[in-house]
Amino acid sequence: MTAQNKEVLMKADHVKVHFKGKTKKSGVVKAVDDVSFEIMKGETFGVVGESGCGKSTLGRTLVRLLAPTEGKVYLEGKEISSLKGEELKKMRKDAQIIFQDPSASLNPRRTIKQILMEPFEIHGVEPGVNVEERILELLQLVGLDTYHLSRYPHELSGGQKQRIGIARALALNPKIIVCDEAVSALDVSVQAQVLNLLQELKEKLGLTYFFISHNLNVVYQVSDRVAVMYLGRIVEIADYAQLYEKHSHPYTEALLSAIPQVDGEKTERIHLEGELPSPSDPPSGCHFHTRCPKACDRCRQEVPVFKEIEVGHFVACHLYD
Ligand code: SF4
Repeated sequence: MTAQNKEVLMKADHVKVHFKGKTKKSGVVKAVDDVSFEIMKGETFGVVGESGCGKSTLGRTLVRLLAPTEGKVYLEGKEISSLKGEELKKMRKDAQIIFQDPSASLNPRRTIKQILMEPFEIHGVEPGVNVEERILELLQLVGLDTYHLSRYPHELSGGQKQRIGIARALALNPKIIVCDEAVSALDVSVQAQVLNLLQELKEKLGLTYFFISHNLNVVYQVSDRVAVMYLGRIVEIADYAQLYEKHSHPYTEALLSAIPQVDGEKTERIHLEGELPSPSDPPSGCHFHTRCPKACDRCRQEVPVFKEIEVGHFVACHLYD
């Protein structure tokens, strides 16, 4: 499960996404707070972290459903973070998203055929593309039958609805797909089927995924590299195999310990003290210091910078200075 090559497809460069509160008192919510990384063509780049850590905001910024407050996002070397109007619309064909809740993301008043027509209605039809044939091809790709076309979303199961969400995301041959908790709302057995489908499609179509989940086990199953996010920042980026073996960042260590068994060995659960701090008032220095068992005074004052502790394994923690 390695990236097919080392060509950078997408790059986030010091991206910040801040939201102003409704009142002056509520301050600024720093949902994403200075995040940088590259996604290689053909790779699945997994992002894991607790609810509220900013991973969905980051995913939506990559497909430009949100604009960054600061920093830049590049797709194939072209800056997309400041695009507007027609240029932004054109870019959206290349960067699609699959949402967590398939029921909420499909219009209940439209048939499956009408839902699969939507991308062509919005973006137009490329010369030489027969929409009817393309829709049948999409259905086949996601393992559904033609009789599903006349059905409404409420007539389908959760897994089938998510397959339609995947088909719709594939319609315009995107270069990257953000999967935002794409299997979290599904039963465990259906989760496995949808994960397998995503993996098959990646291999068949040469797709690149930005795969978001709060579940490290799920991210681990599909990702080539994994970024661990905490309170708006990425604290570690590692190859999927290294993540289990190295346990580099104290937060990653705590996440890994929540998985009951790793290769048949029991791990001791690390319980983090306290709640996730508010992103409108994040701790100074390393954001994790209020819950980190290894924090020192320095951690409260200085923001750790990424260190490459071995080839391809980056970690932001003073322990590696
Ligand atoms: Fe813990 Fe300090 Fe490392 Fe942050 S920098 S993870 S507080 S040891």
